[in-house]
Amino acid sequence: MFILFGVKEKRRDHGSTISIVCPNCGNRTNLRLVEIEKWFAVFFIPILPYDSIYRVQCEICSRGMELSDEDFERAKRICRAARAFRKQRISEEEYQRIVERSRLFTDMSRYSVKALENKRTTSD
Ligand SMILES: [Zn+2]
Repeated sequence: MFILFGVKEKRRDHGSTISIVCPNCGNRTNLRLVEIEKWFAVFFIPILPYDSIYRVQCEICSRGMELSDEDFERAKRICRAARAFRKQRISEEEYQRIVERSRLFTDMSRYSVKALENKRTTSD
């Protein structure tokens, strides 16, 4: 019997985190939080997830960086705050406080992109 094994990727977009001037493409844009799940597949049908990669990336050029599991949780909190801010459930000050308290983007020097600016999520 012939069985075809393989790997499939599922991409999940958690939404935007903060607005930046992208150090790669130079556009003012949002950094999106993206999760890429790797699945073991049989006959191209995903059967079992075996790994996940977390990234924040530019909405325009897709350049970004990988996050640790812990930073992914921090980034998810920022996504929730950005959504609440856009729906006017929290103030801009509250949103900024959540971003700053997470320290995710102030600690960005741990990642390779150092030119990230911490700015609000909505367009100016
Ligand atoms: Zn870009």
